[in-house]
Amino acid sequence: MKNREASSDKLIVLSRNQHTISRKSISDSALKVLYRLSKSGHRACLVGGGVRDLLLKIQPKDFDVATDATPEEVRGLFKNSRIIGRRFRLVHIRFGRDIIEVATFRAHDEDSPKTELDTHGRILRDNTFGEIEEDAMRRDFTVNALYYDIHDYAVLDYTGGLKDIDNRQLRLIGDAATRYQEDPVRMLRAVRFAAKLDFSIETSSASAIHEYGHLLAVIPPARMFDEVIKLFHSGNAVRVFELLREYRLLKYLVPELDEWLQQEANEMMLDFIDQALVNTDNRVNTGQPVSPAFIFAVLLWPAVQEQASRLQPDKQKLIPALAQVGETVMKRQVRHVSIPRRFSQMARDIWTSQPRFYRTQGKQPLRMIGYPVFRAAYDFMLIQSMVGLFPHKLSHWWTDFQSQHEFAPEPARKRKQRPRRRPRRNAS
Ligand code: ATP
Ligand code: MG
Repeated sequence: MKNREASSDKLIVLSRNQHTISRKSISDSALKVLYRLSKSGHRACLVGGGVRDLLLKIQPKDFDVATDATPEEVRGLFKNSRIIGRRFRLVHIRFGRDIIEVATFRAHDEDSPKTELDTHGRILRDNTFGEIEEDAMRRDFTVNALYYDIHDYAVLDYTGGLKDIDNRQLRLIGDAATRYQEDPVRMLRAVRFAAKLDFSIETSSASAIHEYGHLLAVIPPARMFDEVIKLFHSGNAVRVFELLREYRLLKYLVPELDEWLQQEANEMMLDFIDQALVNTDNRVNTGQPVSPAFIFAVLLWPAVQEQASRLQPDKQKLIPALAQVGETVMKRQVRHVSIPRRFSQMARDIWTSQPRFYRTQGKQPLRMIGYPVFRAAYDFMLIQSMVGLFPHKLSHWWTDFQSQHEFAPEPARKRKQRPRRRPRRNAS
């Protein structure tokens, strides 16, 4: 197959009064970009999640624009822009904290020198520009390939996306096996959108996930980190987790958790994960901050906890065992999903803090609430307590204690007096 077949006789057009998308629900920044491109003689459309979500009456989290202008032409039109990416060259246009992503219409042409595939058929580079119909065909799911044309406010559907929106299903465009081979991350995207939109995954797009899940092993760990965070910070982490298990994808993201799930039947620990994901969803959906450190601390906790207690059955001496196991578990984990150091360190601090919550005597508790990791470690402990993994009485004690000291300054640490060094003299 050279160019993926694209024919506009299948095109469905909804004119401005046949759909419910109104410019009022599109951000000012996105409208500015669309109008400036259009006034400069270019074709400019809203595409992807923006159109899909507006048709479903969901407020989009960002807006993507597709155009026939080249990245350089777009760059020339907007001072506040820069060209990013190698695999896919895109332009980011910045308006304060808002970024509008502008992509040039592309064709998927395997024989072009601007397309590069690896031995598994994975696309490494795809910068062959093309027509809007071709651009639609190279997108992942039909519901992500709808265009809202700023020229006449029509919605354009080249792939049957409108019907799939009505049927609430995710369908890959083209042959499922080929599309997952080109980019295995599409399997994670299927799970993410199915969870977010409460859509089903159409049969052949779903069954191919079982067959090609292993291809996720070839994805660079840095890209995997981005995807894992998108999955678990989507506000639908509970459902995402269920689907990752259903489609047997968890083992490519957090292998040690997957192994633990195969062997152990510790109901309380399972409840712990569920409860932590419920909390994360609540936080995301009410605009509270969430940290990748917390998610990885949660997902790896069953393995870390189990291995540390095997190494050191004496609960009193668990901290060094948690530190040691935490380090090795993290080392193995980052081979699959690279976790930036500040997060992996914080996850390890959350783990080693847990036994300290048993100590309520002396100066320890006050010192403990001064640690930068305290808040996260405390939230983690509360979840353990909710599911019966930590005594309620103690968790109440900590809740009272920390609320009494909430506004107290950090406890001053006594520093050892060091002998003052004389200033070094200049050699001359
Ligand atoms: P959301 O922004 O809500 O997460 P989205 O659908 O907008 O969802 P983005 O990652 O912002 O997703 O991508 C924008 C669009 O680019 C998608 O809707 C899709 O058309 C296309 N796209 C993104 N990633 C891929 C991919 N891996 N393969 C094919 N097309 C993709
Ligand atoms: Mg988007």
